[in-house]
Amino acid sequence: MSVEPAVLNAPEVHHCSKCGACLHVCPVYLQKMEEGAGPRAKVQLTRHYTERSLPTSEYLNNLVNCCLMCGNCTAACPSGVQHQSLFMRMRSYMTTDHGEGWHHKVIYHFLSHEQQLRLASRFARLGRNHMLKYLSREFKIGNIPARRLPEWNQQPFREQTPEEPLAEADSRGTILYFTGCGTNYIYDQVGHALCHILKIMGFRVEIPESQVCCGLPLFIHGNLKKAANNITTNVKLFNREDIVAIVTDCATCGSALHREYSNVLKELGLATEAAEKMSTRVRDIGEFILTNYALLEPHLNPETNRQKVTYHMPCHLRNGQGITTEVEELLKRLPHVDYARAVDYDHCCGGGGTFFYDHPETSHQIVSEKIKNARATGADLWVTGCPGCSINLSGNLEETDTISVEHILLLIDRALQK
Ligand code: SF4
Ligand code: SF4
Repeated sequence: MSVEPAVLNAPEVHHCSKCGACLHVCPVYLQKMEEGAGPRAKVQLTRHYTERSLPTSEYLNNLVNCCLMCGNCTAACPSGVQHQSLFMRMRSYMTTDHGEGWHHKVIYHFLSHEQQLRLASRFARLGRNHMLKYLSREFKIGNIPARRLPEWNQQPFREQTPEEPLAEADSRGTILYFTGCGTNYIYDQVGHALCHILKIMGFRVEIPESQVCCGLPLFIHGNLKKAANNITTNVKLFNREDIVAIVTDCATCGSALHREYSNVLKELGLATEAAEKMSTRVRDIGEFILTNYALLEPHLNPETNRQKVTYHMPCHLRNGQGITTEVEELLKRLPHVDYARAVDYDHCCGGGGTFFYDHPETSHQIVSEKIKNARATGADLWVTGCPGCSINLSGNLEETDTISVEHILLLIDRALQK
């Protein structure tokens, strides 16, 4: 397949009226309070770079990459500037001009080679457990103390589960499960919970074994060509007529499948029809369960221990998929949940792909505010629906914290156990 990034091209920058409405919702700008860190400046820098009135430089590269790709700016922009597409393109120009650090190269290589990623995950599991014995307690990966990073699955989730249907033949229809790397390599219990819940609701769950990383970490960092193979592989597997839905337990994967695949293919001048067709069937698992709550409710045990729960809404759920109230609504309906909203429940966690690693101080400032407000709710459980957010939130809690982070599916599944 021949895929070339478009020539320098950013006509949408002319839509920006420089009004500044995007500044006050940008987590990076709000921490740094520097114009160059905000979306308005990034749009203008892109404009001048693509018009060749601003030469490339490491400084420009750093400014462009100091962004969580959270989409808050796009949601707030009255002029309809599509920052994510624009920044994705600008990052790809910067990668061409300045290359990538070795650690990014390694990550992107594995995410675009699933077989090697599977192998690497085995070494990562052994390495993590072994190295922790020798590392000082203060050693951090980005803003996260290494000892607070989650363990890797003993075996990738998709190898633990058969590709065969997981429910009876007289089911309500087939659900295709896009597991994402988070569940496949780190949070296997979330995948088991999803299968259990959907089976109890009467659906037949199918997990295409040859699915690969959704590709979002690749394309948001400007690696559009590498991401194209991931996208076309997944679209071929998941674009099926005979299914009820494609579900994801990861807001990031969901936004890739739901919205971004066709944008990236369009950027690369490739056909988008199949991706667009597939996207109409993509559902976040929280949204899907709420829509079909009547199938779940009879199976929820009202005797389940009650828990005070707060919620973190992933940016890729709200801005990437337009899901705003659904998960909170679901939490309020669960019989074993006392829901307590944090004042900033819908603010970005500061994780942002590799942002927590590349910009640890800013990331830490953002997540510390979230943690302070989550603690203030008095909740003992902080649920979310994105493995990346889980790692960042949980990784930045203190050993003394009584609140813990988990996926909403585990909370639901506990009410089905007895
Ligand atoms: S909100 Fe939109 S129009 Fe206003 S400064 Fe930001 S990008 Fe430009
Ligand atoms: S995507 Fe998020 S972090 Fe990046 S400029 Fe927009 S609001 Fe700021």
